Amino acid sequence: MQPRYIGRFAPSPSGPLHLGSLVTALGSFLQARIHDGLWHLRIDDIDPPREMPGATEAIMQTLVSHGLQWDGNAILQSQHLAQYQSSLDALIAAQKVFACDCTRQQVKTNGPYYQGTCRTKHITQLPHALRFINQQHCDGFRDQRLGWVEVDQQAACEDFILRRKDGLFAYHLASVSDDIRMGISEIVRGEDLLLPSACQIALFEALGAPVPKFVHLPLVMFADGRKYSKQNYAPPLDNSKAASNLCAALGYLGCEPPEVLKKEECHSVIDWALTKWHKMQG
Ligand code: GLU
Repeated sequence: MQPRYIGRFAPSPSGPLHLGSLVTALGSFLQARIHDGLWHLRIDDIDPPREMPGATEAIMQTLVSHGLQWDGNAILQSQHLAQYQSSLDALIAAQKVFACDCTRQQVKTNGPYYQGTCRTKHITQLPHALRFINQQHCDGFRDQRLGWVEVDQQAACEDFILRRKDGLFAYHLASVSDDIRMGISEIVRGEDLLLPSACQIALFEALGAPVPKFVHLPLVMFADGRKYSKQNYAPPLDNSKAASNLCAALGYLGCEPPEVLKKEECHSVIDWALTKWHKMQG
C-alpha cells in the first residue's frame, strides 16, 4: 500500500493572505485532496519581530472563508521549539554544526555567499550564530511540476544558519524539522522558494529523513515585475469576494475557470477545481 499523502500550507503570520498566498494555499489543498491525503495548516511563527498581531487569526479566517478547511488542529511553530532544539542537537552530535560570529556585512563583503569563514575557528564567545556544515553538491532537483530545476550551486551549498545570533531558530531548521515530524510527503510552495528547497534537501538528508517530493507553484506579480508579498504591500484578500479570488488563483494554477463560477459559492468553485486539477495531473 502506498503511504498516505500528507501536505501542508505554511504561511508566516507577518500579515494577511494575498492572492499570491492563495495560489499556494489552493494548489497545496487541491494536490492533497486529489491524492486523498491530509492537508495541514502550519503557522510559521518563530520570528516574533516579523509578526503582525492578529495575522494568525486573519489567515485562518481567510482560509475558512475561501472553503479551505485544513485537517486537524493548526500547528504553531512557536509550540515546537524543544523539537527544533532536538534536531539541532542531532546535527551537533553528527558534527554538522559550527559557530559563526560574522556580521551580515562581513558575509556580504566576502560573498556573495557565506564562504565557510568560521568553520575551523571553534568560536565559543557569544553572540554567535550556528551554521550547518553543508557538504552537498546540489546543483538542481526534481520538481513535480517544473521537471529538473537548476539552482545556483554555490547558493544551495552555502553553510546556512540553523540558529541565529539572537537565539531564534532559522527557517530551514524549523521547517525541515516540522516537515519530518508531520510526515509531509510532498511540499507545495511558491517558486520563490526554489533555492530554499535545494538547501533543505541537504538538511533532510543530514537528519536521516526521506526527502519529500516538491511542487513549486507560479508567483503572482505586480505589473512592474515585483512579486506579490507582504513586504511589497500586496493587497490583502477580500473575504467577501472569496469565489472570485479562488477563480483568480485558479487562473495562476493554469485552470482557467468559466466566468460564471465567480458568482457561485466557494464550494462549487472548489468542486470544479478538484475535477479539473485531477484531470490535469492525471
Ligand atoms: N512560512 C514560509 C513562507 O510563508 C515558508 C513556507 C514553506 O516552507 O513552504 O514563505
